[in-house]
This record gives sequence, structure tokens and C-alpha cells, in this order.
Amino acid sequence: TAETLAALQRTLQDQGLHTLLVQFTDLRGVAKGKYVPVTQLPALATTGAGFAGPSIVGTGLPRCGPRSEFYARPDLSRVQPLPWQPGYARVVGSGWVDGQPFDACPRQTLQRATARLAARGWTLRTGIEPEFFLLRQTADGWVPADDHDRLDKPSYDLQSLPRQAGFLHALHQVLAGWGLEVLQIDHEDAHGQYEVNFSFDEALASADHLMGFKLAAQALAEAHGCRFSMMPKPFANQPGSGMHFHVSLWDGAGDNLFAPGPGEAGSPTPLSPLGRQFMAGVLAHSAGLCALAAPTVNSYKRLVVGESLSGTSWAPAYVAHGPNNRTCTLRSLSGRFEWRVPDASANPYLATAGLIAAGLDGIDRQLELPTAVDDDLFACPLARIRERGIPLLPQSLAEASDALAADTVLAQALGPVLHTELLRHQRTEWLAYARHVSAWELQRYATAF
Ligand code: GLU
Ligand code: MG
Ligand code: MG
Repeated sequence: TAETLAALQRTLQDQGLHTLLVQFTDLRGVAKGKYVPVTQLPALATTGAGFAGPSIVGTGLPRCGPRSEFYARPDLSRVQPLPWQPGYARVVGSGWVDGQPFDACPRQTLQRATARLAARGWTLRTGIEPEFFLLRQTADGWVPADDHDRLDKPSYDLQSLPRQAGFLHALHQVLAGWGLEVLQIDHEDAHGQYEVNFSFDEALASADHLMGFKLAAQALAEAHGCRFSMMPKPFANQPGSGMHFHVSLWDGAGDNLFAPGPGEAGSPTPLSPLGRQFMAGVLAHSAGLCALAAPTVNSYKRLVVGESLSGTSWAPAYVAHGPNNRTCTLRSLSGRFEWRVPDASANPYLATAGLIAAGLDGIDRQLELPTAVDDDLFACPLARIRERGIPLLPQSLAEASDALAADTVLAQALGPVLHTELLRHQRTEWLAYARHVSAWELQRYATAF
């Protein structure tokens, strides 16, 4: 009502906030938005912040002609001050077009998916684990921000971690200010690579938090003299950045529906039958899901088959699951599983929407899990992997896009416009990449023949 909005405006102004950053997320997972003075709250609440639809990647609106407006209508129940930019606060918007929720908006796509769960009385909770690099740009290209960081295995390195403590603590403070509980912060296994874990939440909130995390990390890294990178694999000979999802399903009474029953507790897959079916659905749709969880050309340099490279990277290459097994697509834990395919470039809304559609398909078709894998798949020769009937994940964006194109369950979850736009975008990227003649090729072939 007008009074509630007036009251909200006063509260915000009393907190010293003069401007809202109305943020939404495009098809690529890139945050977009504009500044709207808090005095504009009534318009914001009723119509939203307006954008030229054709300027937004992935809406399909360019084909609707020059006059298509896209509105980001924010959820005003969560206003997040940006401490690095006093006076400003972030609100997260969903897309509206022609007075209707816009089905090609990634956030609405996830909202449609969670509504399918809600219709059964279920809530999906995700814990998203972002890994990232801090980089610097030099005359020689991008390098890790910390150039003293030259250990062979920099995991958990305590010489380089404190060098970034200023940035990491500032980030921690921002997340804590937004009500997120920071669980742990470490140096990961590549030079200049870190991971920050924060509390799990309902699927939509987690995706919103992840986008907020990126916004904060980008700004704070620049303030600390470096750049924040969620490129999946910046350095070929070092591990890439994953963005694993820990997944559980809850009912209205607050019970975890994936929790193992008494007879299932000691099993290699300590999840309820419902949890196993959900996992089986995710495995069954693994190829198409890659286009959502590993959506860039560069993503496939992380998901590499071949033990010598992947043995150090802990990124999955095979469609398999196993008890606490980090070499598989799905690592089963008690009452939850970890989906290890997503990388740092994934759009969290689309990856989660795809995950839900795949899991529900597993439940509806009562799919059975393949045999749990107990051994180190990175140590297993490829020929043996094939003998065991373990499929490979797509090995390129082109393969993943083709799998998404053929996956009717995921197509349905995305809706026709988003499905078409995502494939168009990915195929354009792939072609641009495939047609590029690289320095590697010239060096290898220029005088070879
Ligand atoms: N960096 C690895 C990946 O790309 C994951 C390492 C870990 O398990 O923390 O998925
Ligand atoms: Mg990690
Ligand atoms: Mg993890």
C-alpha cells in the first residue's frame, strides 16, 4: 500500500540510503541494473525499473521490435546496503514485460521451477560454493594478483592467504551485513584462487545471494587493487573454479526429505529413495545440464577427461556418483548431495532451474541410480571407464549445447524463448571461438608442413 511504501522510504532514508541499485541477471549470468532514487519507490513497486529490452542479452526482445520495454520489478522485502558505496542499497528484480511476469527472465524461470516444487509442498535448499581468482592485468596478460604465490600446491597456503585478508575480510563483513553466515574462507589449489562459503538457503535466495556475492567481490577486489574473476579456467595448468551446489529437499514441516531412513544410513548413498531418484534425474540429464552449469567455451577446459590434468583439478569429467567421491558428477553425503559440475561462470538461476527440472524428472519416472562409484575416477584409465559404462560429460560447449537442444525436459523448464536464446548465444560463442586462429595454432602449424 501507499502507506507501507512511504514507511519503507522513510526507513531507508533514516538509514542514510538515497539510492537503490535495482539489479537483475541476464541470460549469461551477468548482473545488470540501474540506480533509482528511493523517492521513486511507488513507481518501482508498481511497474519496476524500465530498461530497453533489445539491449538485454537473451530476452528475445530484439525480435519484438524497437519498442519492447523490460521492467525489473524488485523484491522490496530484501534491501541490502552496499557498504563500499555509502547511501546505496541493492534490491533484486525479476523481469516483467507488458505487465506480465516475463518467462524468459532467468530469475522467473527459477521461480517457475520452485513453484513446481511448492505445488508438492517441497522446498529445495542449495548451498552454492564459489571458487574464484584474484587477478591483475599486466603487459603480459592476466596473472594471479599475488605474485609471490608460487607454491606447487597452493591449497590452504598460509603465506598467501593473509596477503588478501583485507579483501577477504571486507567481503566477509558485507555478507554478514546481509545476514549471510560466512562458514569458511580458504586459499584454493591454484595460484591466486580462493573460496568463500556462506550459509545455504532456499534455492531462489541462494541464487540471489550468489549474485550479490559477485557484485560485492567485484567492487571490493577493485578497491584492493586487483580484479575478481569467476572465469572457470584462467590457467591451463592449474585447477579451475568450480561453483558446486549442495542440494537438499525439505517439506513444510521442516524435515529434510533426502535424509536417509534408518536402513539407508550406512549405505554408499545415504539418502532417502526420493533423494536417490532426484540424483538419478540429475545424472540422466547431465549432458544437457552442462549447457546451464558450464555455459562458456572456457568451461570445458575445466571439465577435462584425462587423469594427468584432471587428477589435480577435482573437477568432474564423468557421469557418475559415489560416496563422498570428489571425482564424480555427484558426491553423495548424508541427506544431501554435492553437484560438482557447475563452474563459476554458471548463471545460478538457470543452473538451479535445470537442476530442479532434472531432479523432478528423476522422481516422476522413479529413475534408479547407477552403481555407486567408490574409486578415484581420475586414476582410472579412459578405456576402463568406457568398459564400466560410465559416460563422459560433454567435452565442449558445442556438445553441451547440442545436448541441451535435444533435452525436452530442460527445454520445457527454460521455456521456448530462453531455450532458443541460450542456444543462439552459445552457438555464436562457439563459432567465434572455433573460427579464431590462436597463437598456439600458429606456433604449431605455421611452418610445420
Ligand atoms: N576447483 C575444483 C573444481 O573446479 C574443486 C575443488 C574442491 O573440491 O574444492 O571443481
Ligand atoms: Mg573448493
Ligand atoms: Mg565443494
